[in-house]
Amino acid sequence: MIKTYYIDYPQEHLEGQAHTYRCVYCKVVTTKINGSLQGHLPDCTYRLKLEHDGFERNQNPNSPSCSAADDFD
Ligand SMILES: [Zn+2]
Repeated sequence: MIKTYYIDYPQEHLEGQAHTYRCVYCKVVTTKINGSLQGHLPDCTYRLKLEHDGFERNQNPNSPSCSAADDFD
């Protein structure tokens, strides 16, 4: 199952900025992340967890997916 919007990551309030929040792990502000997993840094704990869980499996070049069926030339 692939989600299209990622907003369930832990956030922290940015000191001194009333409506600004950022990811606890990669420190990217929510307005920049904009609900996208790619908005997080590549080494963000949250992003890595979701990618490990398979939500972005279609971007894994090592995925042994569906092309095996027509493997003749
Ligand atoms: Zn993050």
